[in-house]
Amino acid sequence: MRPRELAPGVSLFAAKTPTLPPATHTNSYALGARDVLLVEPATPYEDEQRAWTEWARALPSQGRTPVALFATHYHDDHIGGATALSRELGLPIWTHDETAKRIGRDKVSRTLTDGETLVLDGPKAQAWKVLETPGHAWGHLSLWNERDRTLVVGDMVASVGTIVIIPGDGDMRIYLDQLRRLRSLDAKLALPAHGEPIDTPNSLFDHYVAHRLAREAKVLAAVAEAGLEGAKDVDLVPVAYADTPVAAWPFALFSLRAHLDKLIADGRVALREERYVESRPD
Ligand SMILES: [Zn+2]
Repeated sequence: MRPRELAPGVSLFAAKTPTLPPATHTNSYALGARDVLLVEPATPYEDEQRAWTEWARALPSQGRTPVALFATHYHDDHIGGATALSRELGLPIWTHDETAKRIGRDKVSRTLTDGETLVLDGPKAQAWKVLETPGHAWGHLSLWNERDRTLVVGDMVASVGTIVIIPGDGDMRIYLDQLRRLRSLDAKLALPAHGEPIDTPNSLFDHYVAHRLAREAKVLAAVAEAGLEGAKDVDLVPVAYADTPVAAWPFALFSLRAHLDKLIADGRVALREERYVESRPD
């Protein structure tokens, strides 16, 4: 069966979306034993939307009533079905204002901010604290159920594919801070938008932070190697990403810029006439 029960009052339904390969699907979650929040109205494809609405419409037969749609952030593979599914199911959309801007503010019934709690009533009520966790996208929201130690992480981490940080849309410095914040919660189960549920979230958060810092060190070494003259970003990619396939370099350029922005903010790199140079305290 396509829908999967992960825990009492938490089920998963993955739908095909135009996401970044190797991921092909975006996970939706039905949270709540009676009142249900449907996470990620993601799919823009009609046949997948049909399957998704069938899933949502079957929930009442288990005593579960959808009350709203919730999107973690505004990327297409998360809100591609928001308007259509909201209309089809007659459900309101709840999300952050940054996401509401992209969906259309008139289509969003409730804007959510950091610190508020969504209580889903039922035989065993669930309380989900809204956490604003930007870094991958502005206004990205995660949801934290402290009693069950379950965390809905959106695109903060994934168990398939990688999370791309694109300057302007994301911010590496903020992203790493937010990963550390999520780690500090000591969750026992993390529900990502892409890939399998994660039953050891802390080790994955640690892995992500370590991986990004290791890349940052390579970026810094590449800048240092360019000496006093410095180098342009495109010329740093082959050095800092020598270990990744050439085909991935166009995407690597985004990540490289995100790392360089962080290194500038950290005072370790300076940008002079489009050339990045190492910045050392005198
Ligand atoms: Zn995303």
